[in-house]
Amino acid sequence: MVDVGARSFDAPSPLGERIAAVRAALDEAARAANRDPLEITLVGVTKTRPREVVLAALAAGLTDVGETYAQEARAKFAGLPPVRKHFIGHIQSNKARAIVETFDVVHSIDRLEAGIAIARAQHGLGKRPKALLQLNISPSARFGIAPDEAPDLAKQLREDEGLDIDGVMAIGPLTDDRRAIVAAFRVAAETFERVGGTTLSLGMTADWREAIACGSTMVRIGTAIFGPRPPRKRTEPEGEPARR
Ligand SMILES: *Cc1c(COP(=O)(O)O)cnc(C)c1O
Repeated sequence: MVDVGARSFDAPSPLGERIAAVRAALDEAARAANRDPLEITLVGVTKTRPREVVLAALAAGLTDVGETYAQEARAKFAGLPPVRKHFIGHIQSNKARAIVETFDVVHSIDRLEAGIAIARAQHGLGKRPKALLQLNISPSARFGIAPDEAPDLAKQLREDEGLDIDGVMAIGPLTDDRRAIVAAFRVAAETFERVGGTTLSLGMTADWREAIACGSTMVRIGTAIFGPRPPRKRTEPEGEPARR
């Protein structure tokens, strides 16, 4: 079986095999945590990958794709077969319209202003994507709302702006200290309870095992499926450049 660990990505193998291997490993981790594997959605993170790779991944059975740049995604996603599209980058208010137009789930509402921008765009477009509050649970994270402030922000965005806040998203700390990762993910899981909704978006290539043990319902996996990303040359302020 293909190894899906973060540091052990080795020989490229067919995409379908890697997707199946990641899915099998997720299922196994879910069962080990006494959870139903069907509770856990796999989002394949396709940032920096060309459209042909996205098409191949869909053909191989991937049902959800994540991108960090609205513009990159727009070009890449045009005319794609049915797939759920996730925006996981940083929200710039002036890109809100493109984000709502292009995506079905917005993971990164990290401040009131971002929520209001998304709400305006959805009213204008007559489309209501699901939205998650991005929590800051780590000193290495650049974005995200403080967990303690999330329940009030959720209430305000639901009641005053009509956003469909369906849970929370967080990026784990950039560390090999597994206990620190679990501690941070527990904060996210507790905050998810307080915010409500159905989606706890937690876990990437390096930390999805801890995420599943802590209750994640949605993991965002790039490297373990598609291999290491080349360093990015562009300099837009969107996204989480430290993680690219
Ligand atoms: C890039 C990215 C991922 C995927 O990261 P990998 O380590 O390649 O699995 C997940 N979530 C966010 C927000 C990202 O920017």
